[in-house]
Amino acid sequence: MASLRIDNLRKEYDKGSIVAVDGLSLDIADGEFVTVVGPSGCGKTTTLRMIAGLERSTSGSIHIGDDDVTDQSARERDVAMVFQNYALYPHKTVAQNMGFGLRMSTDLSKEERDEKVRWAAEMMDIEELLEKKPGELSGGQKQRVALGRAIVREPAVFLFDEPLSNLDAKLRTTMRTEIQRLQNELDITAVYVTHDQEEAMTMGDRMVILRDGRLQQAGAPKHVYENPANRFVGGFVGSPSMNFVDVTASTTGGTTTLASDDLTCELSGAVADDLPADDEFVLGVRPEDVAPASGDTGTGLTATVEVVEPVGSDNYIYLDVADQFIARVDSTVEPAPGESMAVAFDESALHLFDTDTGEAVA
Ligand code: ATP
Repeated sequence: MASLRIDNLRKEYDKGSIVAVDGLSLDIADGEFVTVVGPSGCGKTTTLRMIAGLERSTSGSIHIGDDDVTDQSARERDVAMVFQNYALYPHKTVAQNMGFGLRMSTDLSKEERDEKVRWAAEMMDIEELLEKKPGELSGGQKQRVALGRAIVREPAVFLFDEPLSNLDAKLRTTMRTEIQRLQNELDITAVYVTHDQEEAMTMGDRMVILRDGRLQQAGAPKHVYENPANRFVGGFVGSPSMNFVDVTASTTGGTTTLASDDLTCELSGAVADDLPADDEFVLGVRPEDVAPASGDTGTGLTATVEVVEPVGSDNYIYLDVADQFIARVDSTVEPAPGESMAVAFDESALHLFDTDTGEAVA
């Protein structure tokens, strides 16, 4: 295994009219599992393909360990990629699919190659599939084979391009756990691209959020969830999405209040001290931080219930505030649509973003 360093990586298409990746820098430590997430078209796959050597960067550099691999072909780089569509050879058996890369890139004897294939098959629990052809396998089995083929080569870096998105929800969860187990056992250095923020949060030592080819934030999932760097990250990470309300700050008699037509929020302490008065902000609060309240608590609102959505142990309550405002509450809280409901949130759960730039200010 090895570390991976990306410096100021850029990729343009169509003579520069499309900038798919825009000045991306990342340092990935040896044995670190980094997930890359962002909306469709944000440059995830292009980034991965540049690391793999399947796409040439317009500028910037890529290092694996101490080696500058920027100008190396895919074949020269010590990386293995796992694709969404498995990319198995249909006419080769599972064992041949798994051993093929070894035959091409090493001078191991047939016995040594077979030994490694058996080891990887055991790792992926697919020993009984070794003589089958891909056409005889289910989607989940194919993806196990594709993972086995990647680990058999023991590459310096693993690259995953949405490997689970063709699988059904249950199998996805199982395979997620399998990949995490592999990570624990083999301590692999990996870059894992997904559009699923939940997958990115649960699997990554660190998650990287991209938008329009640019890095928005990189950090431990919990840190990113609790301290989104900007409004975009706040809205992208977490489900259901963070609520946003435009508010104005005002200070009277030593108390700073954030207010909109629907909501008031009295601030105390450090947040208020740092906040310029008479300024406008976007207030963000996560649905899970909004709780039913009895009467006016100083931090909250009373609004009409629009929809109550049961999701098992919880209810999502859609309130008539701003564009959308959801409270995630216990399923025993069941207001009727049309009813008025008071909710509140803790000051410590608030996020404030600059109205113009979207950057977090508190
Ligand atoms: P998705 O989640 O939909 O797969 P992504 O985040 O992986 O999206 P990319 O596939 O990396 O995004 O694409 C980034 C941008 O580059 C998009 O605007 C895309 O249209 C553009 N792009 C990608 N490949 C090419 C190409 N070969 N020629 C021109 N434009 C391209």
